[in-house]
Amino acid sequence: MELLRPSSLEELDTVGPGLMLAGGTDLVPIVRNRLIDVDTLVDIRELVPRGIDGTKIGAGTTLAELEVDPQIPDALRQACAEAASPQLRTMGTIGGNLRQATRCWYWRMGFPCYLHGGDRCYAMDGEHREHSIFANDWTASAHPSDPAAALLALGARVRTNRRELSIAEVYRLPTTDNRDVVALEYDELILDLEVPTPDASVYLKAADRQKWAFALVGVAAARFGSDVRLGLAGVAPIPWALESADQLEQATPLPGTAYKVEIARALIDRALAAVQ
Ligand SMILES: Cc1cc2nc3c(=O)[nH]c(=O)nc-3n(C[C@H](O)[C@H](O)[C@H](O)COP(=O)(O)OP(=O)(O)OC[C@H]3O[C@@H](n4cnc5c(N)ncnc54)[C@H](O)[C@@H]3O)c2cc1C
Ligand code: SF4
Repeated sequence: MELLRPSSLEELDTVGPGLMLAGGTDLVPIVRNRLIDVDTLVDIRELVPRGIDGTKIGAGTTLAELEVDPQIPDALRQACAEAASPQLRTMGTIGGNLRQATRCWYWRMGFPCYLHGGDRCYAMDGEHREHSIFANDWTASAHPSDPAAALLALGARVRTNRRELSIAEVYRLPTTDNRDVVALEYDELILDLEVPTPDASVYLKAADRQKWAFALVGVAAARFGSDVRLGLAGVAPIPWALESADQLEQATPLPGTAYKVEIARALIDRALAAVQ
């Protein structure tokens, strides 16, 4: 395997396709376990801005840097602080967090399921207590990113080396024709995020442990004036926006994930109360 270290975006355009490596906390185990085929890794740490300037966040900023910065809205700070472990937050960047792969255990064990290009979802008929309650008719995977849920509620915008788009537009539901959960090109680089400042915001997370566990359900709420937006983690193959708890009536839980609907309802109630 080749490791490339371009020193500018212009040089990146000349090095050809490769999988982009930031902190490596998600990518390295995936490559090491041969879950994806890769010939070339491109170290992007010299290319992606790092740091916080008011409402602008470089995609190379680590979760540890975000969780302590007073310029960052509460929902995003709390989502970063509740993610992973201190060591992982010190290495892991916000750009890498948004593009992290599913935690579905079948995918992580290399089962030839839909998201690996195969022809079935093993979780639907198998073990799926950590899986989704929305948009789960094809893959039942649940998006693991706490910060993405917060950024969704906050209405963040994302700048890449190709375009600017909303955080919601970064994600797409996978289909037979395109099994990716991000709408970014293979070599499209997230450069920075613009995060509006709300009047109040919060992130609440339910997990099997209080530390170092992925969200069974994560709920972010952000209030701008009288307008409150919700973003959820752990409930759909992509970060999921809801307008109110009433929309939980439209959930399609699997037998093993019905409990998540009740957790989501309780967390939404608490989050809405917290931002009033
Ligand atoms: C044990 C464990 C527990 C975890 N728990 C949580 C948790 O509770 N909540 C949570 O939200 N996350 C959790 N994570 C995920 C963790 O936060 C991410 O692994 C980390 O943020 C990824 O950042 P990185 O810089 O290491 O990315 P990498 O591992 O380097 O890259 C991850 C992916 O993002 C792509 N990428 C990286 N940077 C960019 C960029 N700027 N533009 C475009 N694509 C890019 C890479 O190509 C790769 O596909 C956990 C991870 C582990 C290993
Ligand atoms: S939930 Fe998605 S990732 Fe998991 S086995 Fe089914 S298709 Fe694969």
